[in-house]
Order: sequence, then C-alpha cells, then structure tokens
Amino acid sequence: MKSFDVAVIGSGPGGYVAAIRCAQLGMKTAIIEKYNTLGGTCLNVGCIPSKALLDSSHHYEDAIKHFEEHGIEIPGDVKVNLEKMIARKQAVVDQTTGGIDFLMKKNNIEVFHGMGSFKDDTHITVSGEETVEIEAKKTIIATGSKPSTLPFIEIDKERIITSTEALKLKEIPKHLIIIGGGVIGLELGQVYRRLGSEVTVIEYMDRIIPTMDGGLSKELNKVFKKAKFSMQVSHKVKSVERKGDEVIVKADNKKGEEVGFKGDYCLVSVGRRPYTDGLNAEAAGVKLDDRGRVEVNGHLQTSASNIYAIGDVVKGAMLAHKAEEEGVFVAETMAGQKPHIDYNLIPGVVYTWPEVAAVGKTEEELKEAGVDYKSGQFPMRALGRARASMDIDGFVKILADKTTDEILGVHMIGARAADMIAEAVVAMEYRASAEDISRMSHAHPTFTEAIKEAALAATDDRALHI
Ligand code: FAD
Ligand code: NAD
Repeated sequence: MKSFDVAVIGSGPGGYVAAIRCAQLGMKTAIIEKYNTLGGTCLNVGCIPSKALLDSSHHYEDAIKHFEEHGIEIPGDVKVNLEKMIARKQAVVDQTTGGIDFLMKKNNIEVFHGMGSFKDDTHITVSGEETVEIEAKKTIIATGSKPSTLPFIEIDKERIITSTEALKLKEIPKHLIIIGGGVIGLELGQVYRRLGSEVTVIEYMDRIIPTMDGGLSKELNKVFKKAKFSMQVSHKVKSVERKGDEVIVKADNKKGEEVGFKGDYCLVSVGRRPYTDGLNAEAAGVKLDDRGRVEVNGHLQTSASNIYAIGDVVKGAMLAHKAEEEGVFVAETMAGQKPHIDYNLIPGVVYTWPEVAAVGKTEEELKEAGVDYKSGQFPMRALGRARASMDIDGFVKILADKTTDEILGVHMIGARAADMIAEAVVAMEYRASAEDISRMSHAHPTFTEAIKEAALAATDDRALHI
C-alpha cells in the first residue's frame, strides 16, 4: 500500500492548489479525482468554460451591434456557429485542465483517478478502473459542490438543465427561462441573449444578484432590461413541467397571483450544494453540519484532527479563489506555519458585461451594523476611456468610515471591473483611507480613474470630472 504525508480528495481549485502548496512545503502528496480530468467544477464546467462562452458571445454582439458605429462594415450576414463556439470553449478547457496535469507532474504529486472513500481516518479507498487503497497521515477534503435544485423540479438534463448542460447546448434556445437571478443565471443568460434567445429571469428575491450591494443590482437590472431581458423579481416558482419540446414554469408573483412562462429550455440556477456523496466521511469521524457541509473550525480542521476541508464543501462563499486561499492556508497550517485569510477581503465578481465586482461591506450591511459611513460614487460615462470604447454603463462606489476615512467597501459595475477590483483589495488589505486612493496617480485614460474619482467623492465630495 502506498503511503503519503497528505492525500487531497478532489482536484478543483481548492484541491489542486492545496496539493501544490503541500508539495512545495516538502510533503509527499497524493491527489484523488473521480473524473478523468483534473481541475474540478471551475476548470471543467464552471469558471473557465463560462468565461470562454461569455467572450465568444461578446465578440458576436460587438460584430452585430457595435462594429458599424466604429466604422467597420461586414459584407453579408454575421452568423453564429454554435458547434464551433462550444468546440472552442472545450479546447480552452482541455488546455487548462492539461495544465494541471503538468503542474502535478512538476511538483511530484501522485494522481489517482477514482472515487475517494474513507475507510478510516488514515486510509482511503480509491475506486477507479482498479480499486486501490492508500494511507495518508493527513487528508484534505476538497470535494466541492454540485448544482442544487428545488424539490419539485426534475432536472432532465435535456430541456430542464443546470449550468453544466447550458455550457454545451446543441442549439440556441428560442426562449430560455432561467430560475434564479444570481451569478450563473445572469452570466449564462447573457451568453444566450447575445446569441439571440429570448431570456426570462425569474428571481425569488426583490432584486437580481441579491447578495451584492443594492446599487449594483439596480444598474445591472437597467442594462439587462435595455438588452430586452424579461426580469421577473419577487416571483416564487411553484412548478416546472416539460411537455415535449416545451417547458412550462409556473410562479406566484408579488401579489400572490399565479403567472406562467413557456419556453423551450429552463436553466435552474438556484445555488449549489456541498458534495460529499460516496466520501464515507463518518468512517473517518468527519462530521457534516445541518446544511450538508463538512464542519470545520477556524483552522479548517474537521472533527477528525488530522483531516481538513476547504472550498465549496465548507461554509463561506462558493468561489474558486476562496477555495485556493483555503488550500494554501491548510497546507501551511499543516506545516506548522501561521497563515491567515481575511474573508472580508475575498472579492466577488459577476462576469457579465458590464462586469460587476465588489469587496468588503455593502451599504445594506453597514446600515444593518449601524456603522457611520460615507459614500462616494463616480459614473463610468464621465470617463474619456469609457467614451472611447463606448462602455459607458456603470459606476464605482466607495464606502468609507465617516470618522477615520478607512475604506470599508468598494462596489463597481462597468467595463473591466473584474480586473479593477484588485486595486480595492490591495487598498483594503493595507487599510487605506479613501484619501490615500484619491492622492495616488491613476493612468489616463483608464477605467481605474473612476476609482480615484470615487475616492475623491468619498473623501470630501470633490470629484474632479463631474
Ligand atoms: P470543485 O471545483 O467542485 O472540485 C471538487 C472536485 O472534487 C471535483 O472535480 C469532483 O469530481 C471531485 N470529487 C468530489 N468528490 C470526490 C471523491 N469522493 N473522490 C474523488 N474526487 C471527488 N467561481 C469563481 O471564483 N469565479 C467564476 O468565474 C466562477 N464561475 C463559475 C461558473 C459556473 C457555471 C459554476 C458552476 C461555478 C463557477 N464558480 C466560479 C464557482 C467555482 O467553480 C467553485 O467555487 C470552485 O470550483 C470550488 O472549488 P473546489 O475545489 O472547492 O471544488
Ligand atoms: P447564486 O446563489 O448566485 O444565485 C441563486 C439565485 O437564485 C439567488 O438570487 C436566489 O435568490 C435565487 N433563488 C433561490 N431559490 C429560488 C427560487 N425558488 N425561485 C427563484 N429564485 C430562487 O447561485 P448560482 O447562480 O446558482 O451559482 C452557484 C454558486 O456558484 C454561487 O455561490 C456562486 O458564487 C458560484 N459562481 C460564481 C461565479 C463567479 O464568481 N463569477 C459564477 C458562477 C457561479
């Protein structure tokens, strides 16, 4: 039987990063993955393929809607070849997961393909093409998550689908009904809206992306409505039924009246559930909490002291970069170091266009906590860079402590917000004040000038260009 210092179960961004850090720290490391390719949800059916389709559909939209204004004429019709678009997406995925194979080899991490199942707290059975048992002094559970659904919905994976199927459709839906106006619903909704689908988003809460700052929801809703999305907020879905090629969704609206929607595809994107099926956690003494997540303490240690858990399978935001931070944290903790994660500074990004990005506290959270704060906001349309590229939707909003001027939250929507949020993370990591940012030079013309201007507005209402 092979023995290891550490076995990592699951090769998503949490698991593979944990394995690399363990190997860097001198531990003999194994990684176990039930699928044939490494990379988990993120690389195979999550972050990477969704961004590939967002980029392809964005090019198409530019070609049919914006090229002409730029003085670019395309003779003849611009057409979508969905098969080719999906094939390109898959090539990006293959290249990326292949990169993880390389990283495992480079770091001498032994890869086992098969379902990992605890026999006890130091032995794991891997059931793949053959069944093997390995011994590990310590284990990191990084088994991730799966799409969740509503109790009355039967996902048939053909017409009533999750994000996994939506990333490989064979035709462009005529009318895509999306249940859940969160990140997946809006990102994939935008892909198919751009490709020509009619898209209806049905959201239970009174606004889309309801966990983000209200100002961001409002602005994104405005942009999506302009793009002719049908946005149905405050709707409680009651039934989803397939009749041949048709899907019928019934919901109660705000007034309690029943309303019906007919489409040819229904994407169910109401969140994800932690995945521990087949893990046999109890055999290792690993407890789950009431929501099926692996229970961990502040060191991400489970109820079995030599077993840790990270990423989507534990509490907290279900984000790839959160999982990665936790992977590094656990490896360093096991090596006797004293790492730290500031969960308040994990940014959240929605990769629609305009992009939505945030870090720190929302206005709603600050109000609820009774914090005395001030706010500075700057619209993208006032930037030369935004006008040059015709990306004028959105704004940057900075929330700062009223007394100390320390930045408490940054919320932005606009072109390239996904990349720009890094400036806010750095600023908040170093506990910058709004004035600190307002006194730093930001290259002109760039979208980042909106951050400086919002900081000026927050400092003492002295934005320069509005
Ligand atoms: P996962 O990536 O889910 O990996 C877990 C792995 O463990 C899987 O490969 C699974 O097969 C394996 N596994 C499970 N049980 C066993 C077992 N018993 N034995 C062996 N292997 C096992 N996040 C972002 O930050 N940015 C984005 O842009 C983004 N886009 C997304 C788009 C979509 C459509 C989806 C669905 C998700 C997206 N996410 C995004 C979320 C992101 O994918 C997850 O937060 C991230 O993958 C979590 O990483 P993880 O390592 O915890 O788990
Ligand atoms: P989500 O939590 O972002 O959104 C789910 C939405 O469904 C919420 O707005 C919720 O109010 C709504 N909802 C729940 N029950 C409902 C019901 N009965 N009827 C109507 N609406 C209902 O979840 P998701 O979009 O499925 O994404 C899952 C996870 O994957 C998220 O945690 C997210 O962090 C992660 N993800 C991240 C990214 C990114 O970082 N860009 C992209 C995709 C997914």
